[in-house]
Amino acid sequence: MTKQPEVERTPQQRCVRCGSPILAAVTVPVHDSRPTASRRVTDTVCPTCDRHHPAPEVQGVIAYFTLNERVTDYEVEGAGQVLAEWARYVVAHPPTYTSDDLDDEIEAWGRGEM
Ligand SMILES: [Zn+2]
Repeated sequence: MTKQPEVERTPQQRCVRCGSPILAAVTVPVHDSRPTASRRVTDTVCPTCDRHHPAPEVQGVIAYFTLNERVTDYEVEGAGQVLAEWARYVVAHPPTYTSDDLDDEIEAWGRGEM
């Protein structure tokens, strides 16, 4: 079963680390050690927390959206390229937390616990 990464360009989501609006979110399928278990994880790019991220793919997303603060539909092709490169990076280096963890953190943040 192969599922393509799902990239959100303007997610309504905030950074779970600092609460800033994030630049983009990508959800990718990952496979853990159990062969039948396939799950999906979501990673995000935050302009504050990921400012010094070592991956050039993450820096590419930040650089693109810094230069093109309001990406129009006409420019979406360029954004699609940096987001696709980042999605491939996330597939190769999936975040250690799961989507469930992220949901829990968002709920905790919403309750003012973070
Ligand atoms: Zn952040």
